[in-house]
Amino acid sequence: TQAPSKELFGHPAGLFYLFFAELWERFSFYGMRALLTLYMVNEIFEALVNRDTAAAAVYASYGSLVYASTVIGGRISDTILGMRQSIFLGGILMAIGHFVLAIENNVAFFLALAFIVVGNGFFKPNISTFVGSLYKDGDLRKDSGFTIFYMGINIGGFAAPLLCGWLGRTYGWHYGFGLAGIGMLIGLLFFWSGIRKNVFGDKGLPPSVEVNERKVMGVKQKQLIPIIAFLSAPLIAFLLSSYQAVGGGTTFLGDQNIVNVIFKLVGFVIVGYLGYILYQASPEERKKLFVAIFITLFMTIFWGFHELSGSVITLFAARNVNLSFIDAAQTNSLNSMYIIILSIPISLLWAYLSKKKLNPRTPYKFGLGLALAGLSFYVLSLSGNSADENGMVPFSYLLVMYFLISVGELFMSPVGLSKITDLSPKRIVSFMMGIWFLSSAYAFQLVGFIGKELAVESDNTEISGFDSLNTYIGGFDLIAKYAIGAAVIILLISPLLKR
Ligand code: GLN
Repeated sequence: TQAPSKELFGHPAGLFYLFFAELWERFSFYGMRALLTLYMVNEIFEALVNRDTAAAAVYASYGSLVYASTVIGGRISDTILGMRQSIFLGGILMAIGHFVLAIENNVAFFLALAFIVVGNGFFKPNISTFVGSLYKDGDLRKDSGFTIFYMGINIGGFAAPLLCGWLGRTYGWHYGFGLAGIGMLIGLLFFWSGIRKNVFGDKGLPPSVEVNERKVMGVKQKQLIPIIAFLSAPLIAFLLSSYQAVGGGTTFLGDQNIVNVIFKLVGFVIVGYLGYILYQASPEERKKLFVAIFITLFMTIFWGFHELSGSVITLFAARNVNLSFIDAAQTNSLNSMYIIILSIPISLLWAYLSKKKLNPRTPYKFGLGLALAGLSFYVLSLSGNSADENGMVPFSYLLVMYFLISVGELFMSPVGLSKITDLSPKRIVSFMMGIWFLSSAYAFQLVGFIGKELAVESDNTEISGFDSLNTYIGGFDLIAKYAIGAAVIILLISPLLKR
């Protein structure tokens, strides 16, 4: 095979095209996310008494599906399309989603989310695998390549809420969503120019031209898949809108929506299948798989608290934080800002500790990461003591909270990703990667649960500052306890996970 030969700053030149493509894709993803909850509460569900609950349910279902779809997108890319075609298809679907969001209409709203779900499924897993494929096995630059890539993600995640938030506030929601769509198109342009300049060598092509061109029902597979992807959007839109509050009536599902139920059922299947894999594995593999499952489980809990930033924390910022330079949507930039500042120092710290043979083992890093998440919510819960007469708390608490949880993220997310590949037997490594992505999907089920618990119900539009403050502070305090509890459990069982 032809290896990508050109280099830039000591890395394959292709990395920089993927860097900018992913930067702009995440720009669109996080720009939209910054506006999403506020848009639902203030526009889509404005008339409902339980608008917070409805918004929490949709946010959670959207988040669950947006990550679960990556399992399917990764699989289709492996078997039929290859990474290049998948990334183009995903990017186009996501751009359509963002532009449909710019239309002011409730049906368009759910359809738009559905397009983003399907699009992300094709885009996100494949651009990440593409980065890995630029390096040969055992190339020591791979880790730093991923660190650079994670930077790109967060540059997009930093800039987008600031810009889309500003547009949304100054000119209207739809301009903010529209800019997200433009960001996605810019991302695709970078990817396309990388292909034009031939910086990817022969990477990312379909597994075989024959498979790509094979006809099913008279249509080539590479054409059939985009058609199916488009047609699945209305179905997903229906699932997303299935929360009872949207229809107004109650259903046999009670407080759940269809997406919750599906995730529960699928959860049982996954647990069963994992049990079967553990049973089949050799004793040596079993030990490793056990550690892989363990870190994925705790990653789920971490993301479950972390992803509250787009829902409960954004609403808290809007209702109870004294903001002066930035608005509530724009506070979504803080996480990425800290990641940009801290990712290089922290990766240098691990390198330094490795040299001294003091680098903590992965389970310990995970324990510390979760403890930091707990601490971050503890700090936020303390903000209640400094509330003014309107129930508004100082911005500094939010700054410290995001600092702590971002350090926690850097202790877990990049570390975990590389560990999963190390710990999984080769024959099921892509399945385990799927499980890794599903951890983010299940995290959103937790986000939905917490979001409903911390919903502030009110039949008039103005919510009294202290009503919401009390709900949030009590919730943050509980989250802190659970996160720290989970951290203690990890730290206690870590010595057992020695090898
Ligand atoms: N912030 C990172 C990204 O957007 C990780 C998100 C996740 O895996 N849940 O890629």
